[in-house]
Amino acid sequence: MKYPKAFKFQLKINPAQRRKLSRFAGCSRFVWNNALALQKQRLDEKRHCLSYNDLAAKLVGWKKEDATSFLKDAHSQPLQQTLKHLDRALKDAFNKKNPKQFPKFKKRGCGDSFRYPEGFKIDEHNSRVFLPKIGYVRYRNSQSIEGKAKNITVSRELDAWYISIGVEHNPVTMPHKNKSAIGVDMGIAKFATLSDGTHFKSVHSFRRAAVGLRYYQRCLKNKKKFSNNWRKAIKKVRLLHNKISNVRKDYLQKTSTAISKNHAVVVLEDLQVKNMSRSAAGTKERPGKNVRAKSGLNKSILDQGWGELRRQLEYKQLWRGGKVIAISPQNTSRRCSSCGYIAAANRKTQARFKCISCHFTLNADLNAARNILAAGHAVLACGETTTLSRSVKQEPTLSAATAA
Ligand SMILES: [Zn+2]
Repeated sequence: MKYPKAFKFQLKINPAQRRKLSRFAGCSRFVWNNALALQKQRLDEKRHCLSYNDLAAKLVGWKKEDATSFLKDAHSQPLQQTLKHLDRALKDAFNKKNPKQFPKFKKRGCGDSFRYPEGFKIDEHNSRVFLPKIGYVRYRNSQSIEGKAKNITVSRELDAWYISIGVEHNPVTMPHKNKSAIGVDMGIAKFATLSDGTHFKSVHSFRRAAVGLRYYQRCLKNKKKFSNNWRKAIKKVRLLHNKISNVRKDYLQKTSTAISKNHAVVVLEDLQVKNMSRSAAGTKERPGKNVRAKSGLNKSILDQGWGELRRQLEYKQLWRGGKVIAISPQNTSRRCSSCGYIAAANRKTQARFKCISCHFTLNADLNAARNILAAGHAVLACGETTTLSRSVKQEPTLSAATAA
């Protein structure tokens, strides 16, 4: 199996290139929004969505119209890619088994990006890339690119522009350099606890910045839309969002690298984060229970990025020749890792585990991590690596999440 990997670099651009990049991103956004509006209208009229080929034909038409002839300035392939992405997003939204969010209209400066599927050249030696219709652009050469480049995505984050080079790797035939297996318990108080006793503390990057964020968001409300002060305030909000996301990304990357480097087999609970972070408020007819406590837990889960950690571990293990096993989270926090006795009473507090059968005591997260590892060994012994039944993690005290 070949697997994808991406290398991201910041671009070093001059004002003329910056204008071009902005314009190209603007064209992509225009194409996305126009095509999405078209599809939405068809859906409202109870008609089928247009296919990618129909949309591509529409794009040719738009280029010929006077009002939208500016689309001719941009390279045609990134615009076609945008239509392909929209097509994918719509198909994902109507996927009956695992529906994703319906695609949204794009706003200027939010998630600006476009992709070249071919036509680019990478000149690593001189730290530059050739982007069709833009020319050679220099980049901060922070790492060497391994594998065959398949595409380049250009994106903007605040005022900086980046390229992400997607490559395809050949399968790893070398086994992982370590032989150990480890169980990982993901939690609220501690982000992750390993079965060997190592733990990674919470980042709570969002909570730390939430106060500042609330302040600037309140400022925004009192300002006249599109005034200079409104623009300044919106920039502050975006800066803060960007900072939060960078702190989080950096921490997640470091954590997943540390775990993946040291262990050939990583065992995790198969958590449905989407379920757990669903709105706790409920509906008017059926209001949710423990709304405050649950929304605290939701915020923590989203803040912690459990799903993202799993995703990163999965691909990093693939690179290193290791593997990830997902096991059912049922009873992992209630089972005694010493004698196997299962009871809710075993875990009276968030932090401590005390077996009522054999009186074994241990840190509750560590006890869970050991159970997770044992379940992983059982899966390995059976010779199967498929995931077991999915269920939701039982956290005994939700109030601990809000207190954190
Ligand atoms: Zn016991």
